[in-house]
Amino acid sequence: QQVIGVLALQGAFAEHVNALKRLPMSARPRTLLVRTPAELEQCTALIIPGGESTTMALVAHRSGLLEPLRAFVKTRPVWGTCAGAILLSEEVVSTKQGGQELIGGIEVKTARNGWGSQIESFEAPLRIQGMDDSKRQFVAVFIRAPVVLELKGSANGPPIEVLARLPLHLLPPALSTMDPSDPRTIVALRQGKHLLTTFHPELTKDDRFHDFFVRHCVLADAQAP
Ligand code: GLN
Repeated sequence: QQVIGVLALQGAFAEHVNALKRLPMSARPRTLLVRTPAELEQCTALIIPGGESTTMALVAHRSGLLEPLRAFVKTRPVWGTCAGAILLSEEVVSTKQGGQELIGGIEVKTARNGWGSQIESFEAPLRIQGMDDSKRQFVAVFIRAPVVLELKGSANGPPIEVLARLPLHLLPPALSTMDPSDPRTIVALRQGKHLLTTFHPELTKDDRFHDFFVRHCVLADAQAP
């Protein structure tokens, strides 16, 4: 059976576990809160929750988890939500001085708190590519969310697939004139077995993203030759 770990150093980890436990029996994995390298070792996949990415990186470093996490993303499926998405980025532009430790694994460049301080949090109905019942919009909750600045990709990495974009009319006037193909409109994407969402699917009762991760990333990876 699959064991999905949820990194439990800081942030909204309990909500992810609850969402996984609500999945239908056929897709419901075992879950494990991960705070140590030994716990990470037992997982077949991992979710990195939202919270505060610098704090999470600092605690991961102190817990001796940073290197094991970097090794983990090289072989197993990982999904990062919000702060987790920042940590999984290959490159991050920070609003504060000084760099921050990253885990990497998804070939994108993101910016922390990318919508600026005027728009701290908002909700947006999204259409998600490949999601069950795709006509039913997914109400996404954004809280001091990062934005995607660039899909970097590489010759040896799997292709990056955009799963959802923010409808431009929901953006403040200064931003709503941006090109619809601007990477900043991308709020959910997938690269190989990894998933990145700049919003928080664990904070709503709609569990389709968790179901998507389990079926399309975790189970698909376990069945791959
Ligand atoms: N702004 C936070 C950070 O930079 C992320 C916010 C969140 O996860 N809700 O880490």
